[in-house]
Formats: sequence, structure tokens, C-alpha cells
Amino acid sequence: MIKLILVLLLGWVGISLFKRFMNPNSSKSVKTKTGQKMLACSVCDTHVPESDAIIKNGKIFCSQEHSE
Ligand SMILES: [Zn+2]
Repeated sequence: MIKLILVLLLGWVGISLFKRFMNPNSSKSVKTKTGQKMLACSVCDTHVPESDAIIKNGKIFCSQEHSE
């Protein structure tokens, strides 16, 4: 019985590692398909790519409107 549990456990670990190997980008952190970092607007909390975000006085904004 213990052998069966060990086999199942090893199989599960193997599948987990295999999935991680196949999808290295499927981490829990919020990232776009291009691997870009997403930042939350401090006004409306919308997530925008780092390159599109407007950073003013250390705060992050999604658009010019919200940065004013
Ligand atoms: Zn905003």
C-alpha cells in the first residue's frame, strides 16, 4: 500500500515538474505574454504594462488623465 502511495506521489511530482518545464512563464506573478511587468494605476487600479504606465512623483498611473 505504501508503495502505491509512493508511486502516485512520484508520478504527481513528475507531472508537476514536467508542466513547469513546458510552461516556464506560467508563474503566479502578473505578467503579459511578452514577459512585461504589469503596474497598477494608483487612481483606478487598472493594470497597465510597465512601458505604457506613467510614473509621476513615485506613483503609477494608467493614463495622462489620471496622472494630473
Ligand atoms: Zn487610472
